[in-house]
Amino acid sequence: MNAIDVPAARERIRKCVHCGFCTATCPTYVVTGDELDSPRGRIWLMKDMLANPDQPPSPRAVHHIDRCLSCLSCTTTCPSGVDYMHLVDAARAHIAATHRRPWPDRLLRALLPRLLTSRALFRLALRLGRLARPFAACLPARLQAMLAQVPAVVPAPGLAERRQAVAVAQPASVPQRRVILHLGCVQPVLRPAIDDAALRLLARHGVAVAITRQSACCGALDHHLGHEAAARAHAAANIAAWETEADAEAIIITASGCGTVIKDYPALFGDDPAMAARARAVAAKAVDISEYLARLPPLPSVRRPGTPLAWHSACSLQHGQQVKTTPQALLAAAGFAVRLPAEAHLCCGSAGSYAILQPEMSATLKARKQAALAGALAGTGATLVASSNIGCIGHLASDQLHIVHMVELLDWASGGPAPPGISLPDC
Ligand code: SF4
Ligand code: SF4
Repeated sequence: MNAIDVPAARERIRKCVHCGFCTATCPTYVVTGDELDSPRGRIWLMKDMLANPDQPPSPRAVHHIDRCLSCLSCTTTCPSGVDYMHLVDAARAHIAATHRRPWPDRLLRALLPRLLTSRALFRLALRLGRLARPFAACLPARLQAMLAQVPAVVPAPGLAERRQAVAVAQPASVPQRRVILHLGCVQPVLRPAIDDAALRLLARHGVAVAITRQSACCGALDHHLGHEAAARAHAAANIAAWETEADAEAIIITASGCGTVIKDYPALFGDDPAMAARARAVAAKAVDISEYLARLPPLPSVRRPGTPLAWHSACSLQHGQQVKTTPQALLAAAGFAVRLPAEAHLCCGSAGSYAILQPEMSATLKARKQAALAGALAGTGATLVASSNIGCIGHLASDQLHIVHMVELLDWASGGPAPPGISLPDC
């Protein structure tokens, strides 16, 4: 098995005691009831791979591992501490290296990361997608799933992205602290308002923000497709860029999907001690923006709306980073009446490129999550949902639910503008 550290994988698998607790919280098992769509079943398939490490995986193993969302709900549940994340990462890398997929699948998996990780190409693709939308019904399911992600309006570059293009840093007037803000690739194109709100919020806290010119995609898209060399290249570029801002006390991440991968950068360089040490230094500074804001004294709220909202906890935040209550506490402290949906632990089906590669399963989980969020808001007349991950925000938005990033609401509550497309009481 050329892409897997076999002894390490065997050791991880050995920790599984087959208790099956994880099956109840695995979204794909909850939907299909098929043991091979559960973490325990997938671990069994991976064990089978280890038995023949020089052979390509069976089509059955590829099918069920492809259906895994990497949501890591199983990791939260597992009483034995099975490191499922690194197991499935290695399995995906092995599949990518040894399994020959049908050519349309290969083409899509090669194109997706290139398209999504270049802001210029992604903007162009969104504009073309707007033109193609009227013909969506005639297209294959995967292309329909791609078009479903295209927003009604493609926003112009926001302040944060424009600042990255022209200057490294814009210190606040009397900065007490200094941080790096990671912009990433998809979020600045789809919803630049998020990082702009983060900039305003941090400035109000007296934090100087550096946005490094050379940093871009965190590598998550390639990593979850098993493209390890490309993921490492993205990680190495970010590490080099962030090392130029050595006095920054934190690397702030506003997309929790990116945060999970950045905090795990050292694992990408397991066979390169020098790079692993640099990755550890970066990972030690990486924080979700909610974690960083919680370290600061609260801002005076200029608005006390009491507006009800539902909190959608992205899997990457609650399972990947084990940040479970901090964002809700910040929103509540800012005056929002925070409600939690049923099945809050289950994935919404977004999961990076999963919504495009597995459109049926993704649509089933999306409908289930939208119903749970609407249920949490039942009787309030409210339609507002807060989250922390751009993938979930775009995926779950509908005419009935308005999804925004939590920093957009914290910015508004402390004096910023209302999030685009959202009407909030100006009191
Ligand atoms: S909960 Fe953990 S130990 Fe139990 S079956 Fe799942 S992975 Fe194995
Ligand atoms: S990562 Fe999520 S989808 Fe994959 S096995 Fe674990 S719980 Fe199931």
